[in-house]
Amino acid sequence: MNNIRIMEASVAKWNRIIAGRQSDGGVLDCPPCRIYYMLVCTGCPIAAYTGRRFCRGSPYPAWYHHQNEAHGYMRRKIYCDECVRLATAMRDYMIEIVEHLKACQADQERAPEPVKDDVV
Ligand SMILES: [Zn+2]
Repeated sequence: MNNIRIMEASVAKWNRIIAGRQSDGGVLDCPPCRIYYMLVCTGCPIAAYTGRRFCRGSPYPAWYHHQNEAHGYMRRKIYCDECVRLATAMRDYMIEIVEHLKACQADQERAPEPVKDDVV
């Protein structure tokens, strides 16, 4: 799987959470975590995008804290309007990363061969 596919799988996961069909298992069912987490969280497209590891800088911490503070330490899923808002923010952020990766890929495909004009 390439990073675009991985992040599209993450968009799909959050869509299932928003639809109330799935709870959030965090690291256990996060598509990029399953590949990149490995205790150190390196190489994940989310970490590359935020510049920080463990989903810091993404909407995930707000979702996580809301789940714990408003709904106790139960399964993380949709319980209230705020849950929907936060899960939607996370889903939209995953879409933003997919778009970003696609743009990067398009840039690479478009990039011309480097011009060697430094020959003296
Ligand atoms: Zn809630």
